[in-house]
Amino acid sequence: MKVTAVKTHILDHELETAFESASMSFIRRQHCLVEVICDDGTIGWGECLGPAKANAEVVNTYAQWLLGQDPLETEKIWLALYNRLRDQGQRGLTMTALSGIDIALWDIKGKHFGVSISTLLGGRFRDAVRAYATGSFRREGVDRISDVAAEVARYREEGFHAVKIKIGFDVEEDLQVIEAVREAIGPELRLMIDANHGYDYLEAIEVGRRAAAFGVDWFEEPVLPEQIGTYEAVRVGQPIPVASGENWHGRYAMHEPLSRRAIDIVQPDICGVGGFSEIRRVVDMAALHGVRLVPHVWGTAVCLAASLQFMAALPPNPPRGRPIEPIMEFDRTENPFRQAVVKTPLEHHQGVVTIPNGPGLGIEIDREALARYCMKEI
Ligand SMILES: [Mg+2]
Repeated sequence: MKVTAVKTHILDHELETAFESASMSFIRRQHCLVEVICDDGTIGWGECLGPAKANAEVVNTYAQWLLGQDPLETEKIWLALYNRLRDQGQRGLTMTALSGIDIALWDIKGKHFGVSISTLLGGRFRDAVRAYATGSFRREGVDRISDVAAEVARYREEGFHAVKIKIGFDVEEDLQVIEAVREAIGPELRLMIDANHGYDYLEAIEVGRRAAAFGVDWFEEPVLPEQIGTYEAVRVGQPIPVASGENWHGRYAMHEPLSRRAIDIVQPDICGVGGFSEIRRVVDMAALHGVRLVPHVWGTAVCLAASLQFMAALPPNPPRGRPIEPIMEFDRTENPFRQAVVKTPLEHHQGVVTIPNGPGLGIEIDREALARYCMKEI
């Protein structure tokens, strides 16, 4: 079995309503899918976290070394590709692009053997996960506090057990938003706050100390991802558990925050951390240091499917932990191609997502939808 072609698909949609986190403004949704084609007709799909065009460039660079390789040799290929760009790579786009390729290769491997990736990974500990709703970005031209409160109330109505909101803009306004959200969702729902590294140390401490009164499950990316020592200080300086990891790619980036135990919850993204091959190593590292793992998820149904396969095979920690943990991040922002790219959407029902059990990722790509949303110049 040999790889005969590697294609990238850049999906693109101009948002009806722009929105922003503390670190980024969104006027379009763009995601890069990876298609790996084999000589026997088997096709695998993957997705890369982050800027779609830049990811596609790196995937296409890797492709020259992937052609002719046996796609079942996922570990050999991962190491070979990593080594090719290691000297100028190690983190960032070289890893997000490699993630998309690795996911596609595992999809091929599952299809070849006729089993799901979660079976290949060692077996399924769960067939469904509870989802939490991610949204509540800042939007222009509306009152942020009432806008976010109305949004989270809808998630409660839809059956979600937990919501994550965006902060990191302004300490006083953010605290008013948190208070309004807790009021809107009531005392039962879990609430997480995500600063997208929008604060400095002192602001993070201030927000953490005052937000704790509203019952917050975790405080995500309070400060810049490069500042591991600052994470440690934020963790010590305020009472809310600290979460991070979506911007730490690969085991080497994960090593310092985990070994220093600078965080309470690590959030690798399978489409950024290095795919199935690498996220397994991060699972072991997190377990060694007693850090809870809750994956970051931000992409199309290909990314959702990969995350679900990973979560199915994630061992409970402790061994007799609650069987439906961990929880699944479920992006609720505008993205018409998120579910359209697959023939059977991976939707939630009352806040619970069923994990597919078909071969590979367990999804079928909708080529018509792909054509409809693909950037025309690519
Ligand atoms: Mg985040």
